[in-house]
Amino acid sequence: MANESDWYPEFEALAEHLGGWPVVIRWRSPPGRNDAGLTSRHRLRFYINIQPGLDTMYMFKVFLHEVGHVKIGNLYSTDAYLRPSNSEPGVSTHPEYAGDQTEDAADKLADYWLSWAEARSFKYLDPGDPDHVRVKIYAGLLKHYKET
Ligand SMILES: [Zn+2]
Repeated sequence: MANESDWYPEFEALAEHLGGWPVVIRWRSPPGRNDAGLTSRHRLRFYINIQPGLDTMYMFKVFLHEVGHVKIGNLYSTDAYLRPSNSEPGVSTHPEYAGDQTEDAADKLADYWLSWAEARSFKYLDPGDPDHVRVKIYAGLLKHYKET
């Protein structure tokens, strides 16, 4: 199976489009954590770690959730993106310091974007399309998403 970075090269541009900031996607486990995804910020650039090998639809939901954090934008500046995946969490590297409200808000944004794409996807999808095709179509549609 190809790597996610080969399959989804458009995710960085999509993350910037939805989140409003430059984003680097790292297909690596978040450092020091068991979570599937982690967003950190260094200066004006965001870094999203996504654990490789996740179920495709779950991966896309994790991606959208992390982009939700970019959109919300109130992460602490961290060095998490520099550290190896298996390192211990350091000081001020945890976006959850921003609190549960931020997690809820990121979930709501992810759900909203996914629903938005699903609602527009039917004419482009065939019933038997595998999940990676669905994700490609959702991602392509979301590139045209505009805030109303
Ligand atoms: Zn989160």
